[in-house]
Amino acid sequence: MSFSKKRYFTYLFITIIVFVMPFIKINGNHLLLLSFDKMQFHFLGLAFNMNELYVMPFLLMFLFIGIFAMTSIFGRVWCGWACPQTIFRVIYRDLIESKILGLRRIKNKQKELDYSKNSTKIKKYISLFLWGIISLLASINFMWYFVPPEDFFLYLQNPLEHFFMIMFILSTALFLIYDIVFMKEDFCTFACPYSRIQSTLYDNNTKQVVYNTNRGGEIYQNSEKSILNIKQWSGNEECTTCEACVKICPTHIDIRKGLQVECINCLECSDACSTVMGKLGKKSLIYWESTNEVINNKLSPLFSLKNLVYIVSLFLCLAFALYFTGEKEDFLVNINKTTKLYGIKENTVTNNYVLTIHNTNKKEYTFDIEILDSSFKIKRYRPLKLQGKQRLKTVLILQTSKALKTTNKKDSAYKVKINIYAKENKEIKVQRELSFIYPRKDLLK
Ligand code: SF4
Ligand code: SF4
Repeated sequence: MSFSKKRYFTYLFITIIVFVMPFIKINGNHLLLLSFDKMQFHFLGLAFNMNELYVMPFLLMFLFIGIFAMTSIFGRVWCGWACPQTIFRVIYRDLIESKILGLRRIKNKQKELDYSKNSTKIKKYISLFLWGIISLLASINFMWYFVPPEDFFLYLQNPLEHFFMIMFILSTALFLIYDIVFMKEDFCTFACPYSRIQSTLYDNNTKQVVYNTNRGGEIYQNSEKSILNIKQWSGNEECTTCEACVKICPTHIDIRKGLQVECINCLECSDACSTVMGKLGKKSLIYWESTNEVINNKLSPLFSLKNLVYIVSLFLCLAFALYFTGEKEDFLVNINKTTKLYGIKENTVTNNYVLTIHNTNKKEYTFDIEILDSSFKIKRYRPLKLQGKQRLKTVLILQTSKALKTTNKKDSAYKVKINIYAKENKEIKVQRELSFIYPRKDLLK
């Protein structure tokens, strides 16, 4: 199967996943959602509030190290096989313009359209219209990762109340029209930051698009084209100089010159060469392998030291992310001492706190407190009944009548452990350690 066909199947698979994912829920939570109106991040069916995003740094590290590792091992595999820009360009240029409307030939991407013909103009408007619809769908699909579909369709019934959402969708769709129809692959070459940094991650073991000069012959010398046609060959060079690989290239480069920043790893040149060389009973001269394998006849070990470091780092990031996912508390509690240091009445000392409980569950619970240290008691606290997702503040006053150890010179701080639990299900609990300030001796007399 040609690389192009494999890529088309990959694109179809990715498109289905990206469209379906926002509709999949586990325990009422999404697989991936960053909801700004609910201030929540959903990941693999777990919901995190904005103040418990401790898993986020490890996911970001995983993402960035993953991109570096992927580029270092497989080159620009993302660009050719998964980047939305490339997928959209294939849909617009190869499917709409070439296959459906016959405006151009997939095999020759260098030819500009002839706008002197009316039929070309009409077909161009039709292609713009079709791409406009797809852009709008893609933009709505993108929005579902911020506003889940169940809310999105509700909001659509009152578009004026959700003006920002509508404007965001329309602006993204307009950008996609400009980018895919007018900027084309210039986006990859000049605007995409990833294309700029990736060449620093390559080495001779990186899998990339390589023209085999050993078989094909050197077409370029010092960046200048020295061989223009097959008659100039002196030996057994196999390249027919047919230029099929050049004509088909969407970024308008000649891969026989060596790897260039414009190359998006689409491998269309390799497929084109396969067709030409296939007629001569030979393999394509353009490989998707490392330079060491193609040119230097050396093996590129997958488990080199560099790759092992990447793999271990990725596992560590995942392990930390999973560990912190498991550490997610059943509900959120924040306890702060008030400005009053302590109160003394006879031999009883009190400390005041402001307690905030956020019931991050969907069910209603009544939250009570138990003290795990017998020296202290609760003087004031009324169990809080909170509906799902509700948050409330209340006052908690702890007291002790015991003569605790303290000095003449300064106040002492005691650590007091408390459990905050749901009365309906004691398994739902959170433990906190409070600081109880006990006055110095002379103040107690
Ligand atoms: S040289 Fe052109 S056709 Fe070949 S992989 Fe790169 S971008 Fe694609
Ligand atoms: S398609 Fe193959 S044979 Fe033709 S010019 Fe390119 S590398 Fe040479």
